Amino acid sequence: MSTIHPVLTHEQTLAAEPLLVRRAAVLGAGTMGSRIAAHLANAGIPVLLLDLPPKAGSAERSLAETALEALGKAKPAAFYEPANAALITTGNFEDDLPKLAACDWVIEAVTENLEIKAALLKQALPHLGAKAVVTTNTSGLPVGRIAAALGSHEDRFFGAHFFNPPRYMRLLEVIATPESDWGLVAAFAAFADRNLGKQVVFANDTPNFIANRIGIATMFRAANLMLEQGLTIEEVDALTGPVLGWPRTGTFRLADLVGIDVLAHVAANFPEGVSQGGFSSVLAELVKRNWLGDKTGQGFYKKTRGADGKEVRLVLDPATFEYRPSAKAALPALDMAKNAGSVAERLRELLANAPAKDRTAAFLWPFLGSLWNYAADRIGEVAADAASIDTAMRAGFNWELGPFEMWDAARVGASVARMKKMGIAVSGRVERMLEAGQSSWYSADGLECFNPILGQMETVAEAPGHARVVDFKRTHRVVRSNPGASVADLGDGIACIELHSMKDAIGGDVLEMILAVLNPESDAVRDFAGFVICGDRNNFSVGANLMQLLMLAQEGEWDDIAGVIHSFQQMTAAIKFCPRPVVVAPFGLTLGGGAEICLHGARRQAHAETYIGLVEVGVGLIPAGGGTKEMLLRAVDAAVALAPPEPKDPPSRFAQSAELGTALRRVFEVIAMAKVSTSAAEARGLGLLGAADRISMNRERLLLDAKAQAALMARVGYAAPQPRTVAAPGASALAMLETGVSMMGEAGYASEHDQKVARWIAYVLAGGRVTAGAAMSEQYLLDLEREAFLSLCGERKTQERIAFTLKTGKPLRN
Ligand code: NAD
Repeated sequence: MSTIHPVLTHEQTLAAEPLLVRRAAVLGAGTMGSRIAAHLANAGIPVLLLDLPPKAGSAERSLAETALEALGKAKPAAFYEPANAALITTGNFEDDLPKLAACDWVIEAVTENLEIKAALLKQALPHLGAKAVVTTNTSGLPVGRIAAALGSHEDRFFGAHFFNPPRYMRLLEVIATPESDWGLVAAFAAFADRNLGKQVVFANDTPNFIANRIGIATMFRAANLMLEQGLTIEEVDALTGPVLGWPRTGTFRLADLVGIDVLAHVAANFPEGVSQGGFSSVLAELVKRNWLGDKTGQGFYKKTRGADGKEVRLVLDPATFEYRPSAKAALPALDMAKNAGSVAERLRELLANAPAKDRTAAFLWPFLGSLWNYAADRIGEVAADAASIDTAMRAGFNWELGPFEMWDAARVGASVARMKKMGIAVSGRVERMLEAGQSSWYSADGLECFNPILGQMETVAEAPGHARVVDFKRTHRVVRSNPGASVADLGDGIACIELHSMKDAIGGDVLEMILAVLNPESDAVRDFAGFVICGDRNNFSVGANLMQLLMLAQEGEWDDIAGVIHSFQQMTAAIKFCPRPVVVAPFGLTLGGGAEICLHGARRQAHAETYIGLVEVGVGLIPAGGGTKEMLLRAVDAAVALAPPEPKDPPSRFAQSAELGTALRRVFEVIAMAKVSTSAAEARGLGLLGAADRISMNRERLLLDAKAQAALMARVGYAAPQPRTVAAPGASALAMLETGVSMMGEAGYASEHDQKVARWIAYVLAGGRVTAGAAMSEQYLLDLEREAFLSLCGERKTQERIAFTLKTGKPLRN
């Protein structure tokens, strides 16, 4: 294992006790400062946000105040929920520095200028608490020089480089100086990992650190190759986007997003002159014309409106600096490779073509060749090891694979031979690796990686608490598996049901797996003390397999549809009534049936970025896998908590109480308006997560956090819930909800079909047209769900909605 410090290994550093941050301050309320403050608020930390004072005598609002207001409107949203803004207080550098005394962490995020940063920190120094940690958010200035300018407190100072936007970009580069106290750096890293959800990578104090150094050099290489090979901007964006497992923005859309001036600025920092080549003059000209990308409305691309009022995307011709309508890249090899099963497979396919005959291969060979060489030559310089570079590129640039992982995917030995044949220089480091008999950067199990400085393989540092299901599948037993789901042993008596079906939809194989594993008589229930339902994809689940359903509906196979609903309801019941605790761990999109799985868990451990909702109305249906029933039970519980019924009261009194009416209206809205949370925190407000549910800030910790919950619940004595009987809200509640539906219709907010669907939701929530207080079992409610679902499946407009969503991924409002 490589040491990143004379005595501390990577792993020891990441295992430190997290720093306690009770209050923080951000100096500089610009793009980064304000959004970092918002993310700290997301983590529940009160923040002081400071910037320059308003000009003397001016009546203007302070910069920090204006920034705080703008944060509420930031896109993508900076806050998990708007209320988090209340954790930020604003002020200015003139009046409010004494307030730093109460802050455990002070973040400098002012303009990228060494003198300005140093001067401000010096000004802040006398006000710091003796134990305060101070970090700079520089993109690439020497952290050591900023530290030296401080003159004291240097042991508690280092770099902590966030990526924009800080809520969403996972990477945090931590840059220590020789003066930094490593115990503190380690504690900070552990805090950033757990509390802020960041992927911490330790970077050396070299220009632009890791991700920008490699990523921006790569953008320059792509742009220069474009000029050399006479390609267009759209072609290079297509060649450097999802085909490589990189974001859709490719090279030039990314440049417009980042800001062309920022790019020029970072490029000027490169020690080895990556900004040379034809592209640097294109960049200089764009800066001169103030065509800086999105912030000035034009850069490599420009949006205008055509004669018909529709938006048209124009693209720059870098030879003439004129814009022309953008066109889809005509690169047949890319279209052919789209069907490859993985990035690795696609890479091999694309690189197998002959560069002399194929423009894609002619671009990719020198392009990837120079990325690989450049990255190999940076090991030891920008970071301790190759794995850190890969991690930084994945977390900071959203690459699916880092450069060394890509090289392995393309097969190192064969690619080196090919590069030599094509006259592409090869880094001496990879030659040494091959000479040492090592044919790939990583070992087959991914646990070791070649270190060219040491000339040998070494263990890849693993952050304690981080894991994915795939890691357990490598080291532990896979209990059973089908194409939609697997059961993996997580050790310590806990098993994971991993969802991994096609397009993240729930089909027969998922139903079958959960039913087989969680039914009280199964071997798994006997053998394991608890379960987790999670997965390794980007989304937990987008809901039931609509294709299957549409086909059955179009053919009028009502019995089959009833059978599917029944299985779905049995599956969610198996989760809820399992004798062992089942902790559901949602992340990303968790829609429809995915949300219903969540609602039935004994507890939820959600990733902070969970977008959960019962969206069935979008396709003209209602939640019928127990989702509507569970929301009703939650409404009942909410009303009971507010006004516990007297034992001597007749059930009709509670059923007709104002508290239950209000709670019913709330859950009705969540379902009828297909509300989807924009974060796990917001899901609490919607009642889709409860007070006892937990949130993991770091996606990499989600699985083990959920496992810990399941183990804890099992250890402290878990008793599965019993099926409940509740008092039906009944006919008067139904009338109240239906009146609301009619009003929505009259106001033009709901189409006829929307109203029809909404009336069915109201019908189930009321318990049907029964007298208030009538006793109803969970099974009775499930029967109502099924009745509603089947009836709606027969509607032409519902079938049209399903077909439209399957085709476009969007809802149809008919
Ligand atoms: P910005 O221009 O949006 O904000 C800079 C802030 O510094 C402004 O609010 C300004 O009022 C303040 N400021 C300017 N001159 C000052 C002075 N003399 N004294 C005190 N304050 C002064 O910049 P930003 O994009 O937020 O960048 C801030 C830091 O973060 C920079 O070091 C930058 O390199 C780094 N960074 C930026 C990004 C990004 O994508 N924007 C990403 C990572 C890191």
